[in-house]
Amino acid sequence: MLEELLQALPWLRPQIYFKSSLIALSHAMEDQVLAGEEGPLVIACFQKERFYRQEAQRYRRIGSRSDQVYVLASPETEFKNSSGIHESVAFAPTDGLALEWHLVVIAKKYATCLACRERETTTTSLSESAAMDQARRFDGIWTFDRRVSCTVANLLLNRILTYRPELAEKVSQGKALIQGGDNRFNNVDPGPFGERLVTYLQASQYKLMKTYRSLAAQERRERLVNVITMAIRRSLNSSEIFQVSARELGLALNVCRCLIYRCKATDNTATISHEFLRQGVSSLEGQTWPLKDNPLFQEVVGDRETAYTENAQTDSRFLAQDIQALVSQWQIGSWVMVPVLYQSQMVGMMELHDCSARQRTWETEELALVEAIAAQVGIALIQAEAYANLENLNQQLEALEQTRSNLIAITGHELRTPLSTIQVCLESLAGDPDMPPAMRQVMLSTALTDAERLRTLVQDFLTLSHLESGRVEWNLEPLSLQECVDLALSSIRHRRDDEPQIPQVKTQVPGNLPLVRADGEWLVEVLSKLLDNACKFTPAEGRVTVEATLQNNKTVEVLMSDTGRGIPPERLETVFDRFYQEEGALRRTQGGTGLGLAICRQIVTGWGGEIWATSEGLDSGSQFHFTIPIVNDSQNNRPEPSPKSKSRSKKRPRSNNSRQSRKGDKETRGQRDKGTRGA
Ligand code: ADP
Repeated sequence: MLEELLQALPWLRPQIYFKSSLIALSHAMEDQVLAGEEGPLVIACFQKERFYRQEAQRYRRIGSRSDQVYVLASPETEFKNSSGIHESVAFAPTDGLALEWHLVVIAKKYATCLACRERETTTTSLSESAAMDQARRFDGIWTFDRRVSCTVANLLLNRILTYRPELAEKVSQGKALIQGGDNRFNNVDPGPFGERLVTYLQASQYKLMKTYRSLAAQERRERLVNVITMAIRRSLNSSEIFQVSARELGLALNVCRCLIYRCKATDNTATISHEFLRQGVSSLEGQTWPLKDNPLFQEVVGDRETAYTENAQTDSRFLAQDIQALVSQWQIGSWVMVPVLYQSQMVGMMELHDCSARQRTWETEELALVEAIAAQVGIALIQAEAYANLENLNQQLEALEQTRSNLIAITGHELRTPLSTIQVCLESLAGDPDMPPAMRQVMLSTALTDAERLRTLVQDFLTLSHLESGRVEWNLEPLSLQECVDLALSSIRHRRDDEPQIPQVKTQVPGNLPLVRADGEWLVEVLSKLLDNACKFTPAEGRVTVEATLQNNKTVEVLMSDTGRGIPPERLETVFDRFYQEEGALRRTQGGTGLGLAICRQIVTGWGGEIWATSEGLDSGSQFHFTIPIVNDSQNNRPEPSPKSKSRSKKRPRSNNSRQSRKGDKETRGQRDKGTRGA
């Protein structure tokens, strides 16, 4: 249509209009119709039905002012040729009109028209084209020239006839209006039109400003989040991330104080670890910050959402004395608390303080920004913790690696040495049938001793693995401690004549001690191992004492003390490590595997007790303490079988067996264990 117009009136020079300008112009033109004389000819051609729908209300009102109103549109859903309050003309979507936008008004005293064609756009994606809608551009003519307006009206009326020939008569009445008007000048007051136009342009400018403001806020938010995300990527140090976040947020929101600290919903107080301060504002770093009585904190805990006040000094929630004192001490006016959450659990808090006298209103965008940062900080915290856990795991792995090397060193030495001795003894015995009987005896006895050493190592190792696997079935029962101590002692006293002499061992177990609740075999094992150590590290002229005392009417504490070589204070805990030996495995003088105390700790913790060592230092003797729960009163009255009597039936105390086997018992402890514990 525009092309036909330009052919008809070649002196016309089209210019460019943005969509927003065309909307303003067409609204001003329509308002003029609504405010003006009755019965003008109005033809509006919309590109698509949806654009018409936005204006349908107006066109119903315009239709009620004149019977010469024609609305054209390319149909999408329900727009069709029809006659009603105005004439509707549905043109084919392929019609060139689908690219054009026209509005023509022919009144008696004035005529005006808008005739445009949309420029081709290069936008591709739907969202992009939606965002660019206001910037769509058109080439066209807008004028108050009557001749031009009448030409446009004529062309459009001809088009209408091709789609709706039945309107021929009505169209000819419209054409009569074109001819009937005053052709020489437009008798129209431009004032109201200009005012309306300015109003519409202002409205669209206001819309633009709002869009710009929200874009700027979004940009600021993205920049901040980026800075903090970068800090998170650069470092796994939560302290650094807190510092960057507090500073950036404080600067961006122009607050007096921005605090970030760790806390949980159940905490009463927190320690302020990081802050941003504006000049002249007092620092809170390192302070213990009360949380429990803070109404904002309670709100955050309840809703897991941001809480704030615009003026803490007048807010009725802050009337309590303590919180008022806090508010005035730190001069807090407006106050925001935003929780740092991870999987809905509170892991920290961000606070903003405004200390100026004026009341500060927190904009929704500002709060959204703090919440976005809090979300990033939450992720950073969890990442940093995961990293710390990983480091911890690494250390544990290193410790495991150390244990493995120790094991190799032990097995290298402890297994190879006795094996070589056994081999040498057996080779000598086999290679020299004439060996004197005394010499033969020495060879056999040496081989047997080293075989026993090997067996002990393998046995201890298997016992510890079994205990550590957690698959031990504890048979906890009421026991007499005295009987268990006696069993352990008997194993120590059955030493061979050629073994080193042991020191004197005294026992002090009160006769009225309640029964203890433990696994008898394992209890004898612990007593035997501690007793064995005490005798091993104490010279023959020294003394070993086994004492037992009732503690709090709940547990019995057993104390094994000796006057031997003692333990340096820094080793009191290490002696319980696997393979720990004071002299190092390769230089040991006393025999042993370095597994005994580790086994004892596993056993004692198995029945819910504790074991620890004390010593005044080297050459000042050592004390090993461990606890066993007592059985409750009702159980205490019942006489229980002793470990000794049980050993005759189903189980036999291990330490007893161990010593028996030294004396030539053919059944090894390993074999027996298979039957009783499955170790
Ligand atoms: P081992 O088989 O080497 O005795 P343990 O685990 O029983 O292994 O003991 C580990 C280390 O603890 C010993 O090698 C020793 O250095 C120290 N230790 C244990 N008991 C005593 C004690 N009564 N006096 C001094 N040191 C001890």
